[in-house]
Amino acid sequence: MPHPKTERTLVVVKPDGIQRALIGEIMKRYERIGLKLVALKMFVPTEKMIEDHYLLDPQWKKNVGEKAIASYEKKGETPPSSDPTEVGNLVVERLKKYMTSGPVIAMVWEGAHAVELVRKITGGTEPRSASVGTIRGDFVLDSYQMADTADRAIRNLIHASGSTADAIKEIPHWFSEGEIVKYNVPHEATLYDVDIMKGILG
Ligand code: ADP
Ligand code: MG
Repeated sequence: MPHPKTERTLVVVKPDGIQRALIGEIMKRYERIGLKLVALKMFVPTEKMIEDHYLLDPQWKKNVGEKAIASYEKKGETPPSSDPTEVGNLVVERLKKYMTSGPVIAMVWEGAHAVELVRKITGGTEPRSASVGTIRGDFVLDSYQMADTADRAIRNLIHASGSTADAIKEIPHWFSEGEIVKYNVPHEATLYDVDIMKGILG
C-alpha cells in the first residue's frame, strides 16, 4: 500500500478565477494546510478537452442534473427541467463555453486526504450556498438561478476532483507523468514522520 501522503488531486483555476486575480489566494489555501504542489500549467483548454473531462465519470451528467434539481426544490422553486440527464447535457454545453473563454491554471496537489481536503477548502458547487470560509463561499456570489437565467455555467472559480476515483482519471487527462514532479519539502517530516522528535532536539 502506498503511503497516504501520496494521494493526489486535480485543481483547475477556472477562467473567472484568473480574471478576478484570485490565483494566489486560491493556491495559498491548499498550500497552507500542508498539501504539496507537484504539477502546474496555464493554457486555454479546447472544447473537446472540457467535454472529455466532464464525461470521464459516466454518472456525472445525471448527478449534476440531480444536484441542480434538488437545489431548486430545497428553496421551494421550480427547476427549468425535471429530467436530470437533460440538465446534465445543458451543463456540458455551458461548461464548454465557460472553460474555454480564457486561460485556466491546472494543478496537481499531493498529500494525505488531498481529494477530500481540497473539496472542503473549495466549498460547494453553488457559491450562493457554499459555506462561509470556503473559497467559493467567500470570493464569489453566483447561483443556479443566475446561471439558468443567462443560460451559462455557474461561475465558481475552481474545479476540484470530486473523489479519489475521479482524481485518478482526471490527472492523466490534464498532465503527462513527466509533468508531475517528485520532490521533498522539509515540513513533510513534521506532518508525516512517525518519530516527530527525531532531529528536533539534536
Ligand atoms: P463541482 O465543480 O462542485 O464538482 P459538478 O461536478 O456538479 O460541480 O459540476 C461541474 C461544474 O458545472 C460546476 O463547478 C459548475 O461550474 C457547473 N454547473 C454545475 N451545475 C450547473 C447548472 N445547473 N447550471 C450551470 N452550471 C452548472
Ligand atoms: Mg465535479
